[in-house]
Amino acid sequence: MAHVEPAHLVELALRNATPTDADAEALRHVEQCARCRDEFRMLTRVVAAARTAQLVDLPTAPPERVWQRISRDVSGPPAPPRPPAPAPDPGKRVLLALLALAAAAGIAFAHRYLRQGAAGQPDPPDL
Ligand SMILES: [Zn+2]
Repeated sequence: MAHVEPAHLVELALRNATPTDADAEALRHVEQCARCRDEFRMLTRVVAAARTAQLVDLPTAPPERVWQRISRDVSGPPAPPRPPAPAPDPGKRVLLALLALAAAAGIAFAHRYLRQGAAGQPDPPDL
C-alpha cells in the first residue's frame, strides 16, 4: 500500500467520523510504516493540543476580519461583528482547533516535502 495521504491522516487523527474499511487499512499501514506513523503521531498531538487550546493561548487576538472569514468559511452565513476584546467561548475553541489543524497540516506538508527534497526525490505535486 502507498503511504497514507496527509488529509487522510488528519481525518484519522481527528476521529470525528465513523471508521471505514479504508480507515482500518490506513491504520494497519500506519502501524507498519515509520514515516506515516511519525506523521500520525504528530497530528494526533496537534489535535489534542488544539482541542484544549483557549483564546489566552494565542500570543495576540487575531484580527476581527480573520474570525469573520473563518466563521463564514465554516458556517456559511456571515458572522455578526464581534467586540474588540472578545471573551473566550466554546465556539472559538472549534475555530482555534481548525486554525491549529490548518497550521499542522501545513507543517506536515512542508516537513514531508522538505524531507523528500533532502533525499533527492522529485518535487512535490501541486496542491
Ligand atoms: Zn507510509
